[in-house]
Amino acid sequence: MSSVSLTAVLGDITAQHVDAVVNAANNAMRGGGGVDGAIHRVGGPAILQDCIARFPDGLATGDAGWTTAGDLPAKWVVHTVGPNWNAGQRDRSLLESCYRRALEVADELGARSIAFPLISAGVYGWPRDDAIAAAVDTILSTPTRVADARIVAFDETVHRHVQEALDARR
Ligand code: ADP
Repeated sequence: MSSVSLTAVLGDITAQHVDAVVNAANNAMRGGGGVDGAIHRVGGPAILQDCIARFPDGLATGDAGWTTAGDLPAKWVVHTVGPNWNAGQRDRSLLESCYRRALEVADELGARSIAFPLISAGVYGWPRDDAIAAAVDTILSTPTRVADARIVAFDETVHRHVQEALDARR
Protein backbone atom coordinates (compact mmCIF):
# COMPACT_ATOMS: atom_id res chain seq x y z
CA MET A 1 0.00 0.00 0.00
CA SER A 2 1.05 3.60 -0.46
CA SER A 3 0.46 6.55 1.85
CA VAL A 4 -0.62 8.80 -1.01
CA SER A 5 -3.40 11.29 -0.31
CA LEU A 6 -5.83 11.14 -3.24
CA THR A 7 -8.27 14.00 -3.82
CA ALA A 8 -10.86 14.97 -6.42
CA VAL A 9 -10.46 18.42 -7.97
CA LEU A 10 -12.90 20.29 -10.19
CA GLY A 11 -11.01 22.37 -12.73
CA ASP A 12 -8.56 22.56 -15.60
CA ILE A 13 -5.58 20.24 -15.35
CA THR A 14 -3.30 22.83 -16.98
CA ALA A 15 -3.83 25.17 -14.02
CA GLN A 16 -2.70 22.70 -11.34
CA HIS A 17 0.25 23.72 -9.18
CA VAL A 18 1.81 20.29 -8.85
CA ASP A 19 5.21 18.81 -9.68
CA ALA A 20 3.83 16.67 -12.50
CA VAL A 21 0.74 16.85 -14.69
CA VAL A 22 -0.36 13.69 -16.49
CA ASN A 23 -1.31 13.96 -20.15
CA ALA A 24 -3.82 11.62 -21.79
CA ALA A 25 -1.68 11.38 -24.92
CA ASN A 26 -1.90 9.18 -28.01
CA ASN A 27 0.71 6.75 -29.38
CA ALA A 28 2.29 9.31 -31.71
CA MET A 29 2.80 11.93 -28.93
CA ARG A 30 2.57 14.80 -31.36
CA GLY A 31 -0.47 16.53 -29.84
CA GLY A 32 -4.19 15.89 -30.05
CA GLY A 33 -7.52 16.96 -28.60
CA GLY A 34 -8.97 17.06 -25.09
CA VAL A 35 -6.41 17.14 -22.28
CA ASP A 36 -3.58 16.67 -24.80
CA GLY A 37 -4.64 19.74 -26.79
CA ALA A 38 -5.00 21.85 -23.64
CA ILE A 39 -1.57 20.84 -22.27
CA HIS A 40 0.24 21.65 -25.52
CA ARG A 41 -1.70 24.91 -25.97
CA VAL A 42 -1.06 26.23 -22.46
CA GLY A 43 2.40 24.68 -22.03
CA GLY A 44 3.68 26.01 -25.36
CA PRO A 45 5.95 24.55 -28.07
CA ALA A 46 8.68 23.31 -25.70
CA ILE A 47 6.51 20.30 -24.84
CA LEU A 48 6.15 19.17 -28.46
CA GLN A 49 9.88 19.75 -29.06
CA ASP A 50 10.69 17.53 -26.08
CA CYS A 51 8.20 14.86 -27.22
CA ILE A 52 9.92 14.74 -30.62
CA ALA A 53 13.42 14.66 -29.09
CA ARG A 54 12.75 12.11 -26.35
CA PHE A 55 10.08 9.95 -28.01
CA PRO A 56 10.92 9.66 -31.72
CA ASP A 57 8.70 6.57 -31.93
CA GLY A 58 6.02 7.75 -29.49
CA LEU A 59 4.77 5.55 -26.66
CA ALA A 60 3.02 2.19 -26.39
CA THR A 61 -0.49 2.00 -25.01
CA GLY A 62 -0.33 1.62 -21.22
CA ASP A 63 3.18 3.10 -20.98
CA ALA A 64 4.25 6.51 -19.65
CA GLY A 65 7.17 8.89 -20.13
CA TRP A 66 8.06 12.45 -19.13
CA THR A 67 8.88 15.74 -20.83
CA THR A 68 9.30 19.30 -19.70
CA ALA A 69 6.08 21.09 -18.76
CA GLY A 70 7.08 24.22 -20.73
CA ASP A 71 5.05 27.19 -19.51
CA LEU A 72 2.73 25.18 -17.25
CA PRO A 73 3.00 25.73 -13.49
CA ALA A 74 4.10 22.07 -13.20
CA LYS A 75 7.75 20.96 -13.59
CA TRP A 76 7.03 17.95 -15.78
CA VAL A 77 4.37 16.45 -17.99
CA VAL A 78 4.04 12.69 -17.63
CA HIS A 79 2.52 11.46 -20.88
CA THR A 80 0.59 8.22 -20.90
CA VAL A 81 -1.46 6.50 -23.58
CA GLY A 82 -4.78 5.04 -22.52
CA PRO A 83 -6.57 2.28 -24.42
CA ASN A 84 -9.07 3.51 -27.00
CA TRP A 85 -12.35 1.80 -26.04
CA ASN A 86 -14.04 3.19 -29.13
CA ALA A 87 -11.41 1.47 -31.30
CA GLY A 88 -11.97 -1.86 -29.53
CA GLN A 89 -9.08 -1.65 -27.02
CA ARG A 90 -10.95 -2.90 -23.94
CA ASP A 91 -8.20 -4.57 -21.89
CA ARG A 92 -8.59 -2.93 -18.47
CA SER A 93 -5.03 -3.85 -17.45
CA LEU A 94 -3.81 -1.33 -20.05
CA LEU A 95 -5.79 1.43 -18.36
CA GLU A 96 -4.51 0.40 -14.91
CA SER A 97 -0.98 0.33 -16.35
CA CYS A 98 -1.29 4.02 -17.31
CA TYR A 99 -1.76 5.05 -13.67
CA ARG A 100 0.88 2.65 -12.36
CA ARG A 101 3.50 3.65 -14.95
CA ALA A 102 2.76 7.37 -14.47
CA LEU A 103 3.42 6.99 -10.73
CA GLU A 104 6.64 5.05 -11.46
CA VAL A 105 7.83 7.85 -13.73
CA ALA A 106 6.85 10.42 -11.08
CA ASP A 107 8.99 8.49 -8.57
CA GLU A 108 11.94 8.49 -10.99
CA LEU A 109 11.60 12.26 -11.22
CA GLY A 110 11.23 12.76 -7.49
CA ALA A 111 7.80 14.34 -7.95
CA ARG A 112 5.81 14.57 -4.72
CA SER A 113 2.56 15.90 -6.23
CA ILE A 114 0.76 14.83 -9.39
CA ALA A 115 -2.48 15.67 -11.19
CA PHE A 116 -4.24 13.03 -13.30
CA PRO A 117 -7.01 13.49 -15.83
CA LEU A 118 -9.52 10.68 -16.17
CA ILE A 119 -7.52 8.74 -18.75
CA SER A 120 -9.44 7.22 -21.70
CA ALA A 121 -12.74 8.68 -20.46
CA GLY A 122 -13.03 11.38 -23.13
CA VAL A 123 -12.54 10.87 -26.86
CA TYR A 124 -11.41 7.27 -26.21
CA GLY A 125 -14.83 6.44 -24.76
CA TRP A 126 -14.05 4.26 -21.72
CA PRO A 127 -17.30 3.98 -19.64
CA ARG A 128 -17.13 6.69 -17.01
CA ASP A 129 -17.73 4.77 -13.81
CA ASP A 130 -15.23 2.06 -14.68
CA ALA A 131 -12.68 4.69 -15.74
CA ILE A 132 -13.13 6.28 -12.29
CA ALA A 133 -12.83 2.93 -10.48
CA ALA A 134 -9.67 2.03 -12.42
CA ALA A 135 -8.13 5.41 -11.57
CA VAL A 136 -8.96 5.38 -7.87
CA ASP A 137 -8.14 1.71 -7.22
CA THR A 138 -4.86 1.76 -9.15
CA ILE A 139 -3.57 5.02 -7.65
CA LEU A 140 -4.39 3.84 -4.13
CA SER A 141 -2.80 0.40 -4.59
CA THR A 142 0.45 1.47 -6.31
CA PRO A 143 3.47 1.86 -4.02
CA THR A 144 4.83 5.39 -4.55
CA ARG A 145 6.69 8.23 -2.89
CA VAL A 146 4.15 10.70 -4.32
CA ALA A 147 2.37 12.31 -1.36
CA ASP A 148 -0.39 14.30 -3.13
CA ALA A 149 -2.30 12.84 -6.09
CA ARG A 150 -5.33 14.52 -7.63
CA ILE A 151 -7.89 13.42 -10.16
CA VAL A 152 -8.84 16.59 -12.00
CA ALA A 153 -12.16 16.73 -13.86
CA PHE A 154 -13.36 19.54 -16.03
CA ASP A 155 -16.93 18.51 -15.80
CA GLU A 156 -19.07 18.92 -12.67
CA THR A 157 -20.84 15.55 -13.04
CA VAL A 158 -17.60 13.62 -13.57
CA HIS A 159 -16.07 15.42 -10.60
CA ARG A 160 -19.00 14.46 -8.37
CA HIS A 161 -18.68 10.80 -9.35
CA VAL A 162 -14.94 10.84 -8.63
CA GLN A 163 -15.64 12.37 -5.22
CA GLU A 164 -18.28 9.70 -4.51
CA ALA A 165 -15.86 6.93 -5.50
CA LEU A 166 -13.26 8.35 -3.10
CA ASP A 167 -15.81 8.72 -0.29
CA ALA A 168 -16.90 5.10 -0.79
CA ARG A 169 -13.32 3.91 -0.20
CA ARG A 170 -12.76 5.80 3.05
P1 ADP B 1 -8.77 10.31 -23.88
O1 ADP B 1 -8.35 10.58 -25.31
O2 ADP B 1 -7.73 9.48 -23.11
O3 ADP B 1 -10.15 9.77 -23.78
P2 ADP B 1 -9.51 13.10 -23.31
O4 ADP B 1 -8.49 14.17 -23.20
O5 ADP B 1 -10.40 13.11 -24.52
O6 ADP B 1 -8.69 11.72 -23.15
O7 ADP B 1 -10.46 13.12 -22.03
C1 ADP B 1 -10.11 12.61 -20.77
C2 ADP B 1 -10.97 13.28 -19.69
O8 ADP B 1 -10.44 14.58 -19.40
C3 ADP B 1 -12.43 13.53 -20.07
O9 ADP B 1 -13.24 13.27 -18.92
C4 ADP B 1 -12.45 15.02 -20.44
O10 ADP B 1 -13.73 15.59 -20.22
C5 ADP B 1 -11.44 15.59 -19.47
N1 ADP B 1 -10.79 16.85 -19.86
C6 ADP B 1 -10.65 17.40 -21.09
N2 ADP B 1 -9.93 18.55 -21.03
C7 ADP B 1 -9.57 18.71 -19.72
C8 ADP B 1 -8.81 19.69 -19.00
N3 ADP B 1 -8.26 20.74 -19.61
N4 ADP B 1 -8.67 19.52 -17.65
C9 ADP B 1 -9.20 18.45 -17.02
N5 ADP B 1 -9.93 17.50 -17.64
C10 ADP B 1 -10.12 17.63 -18.97
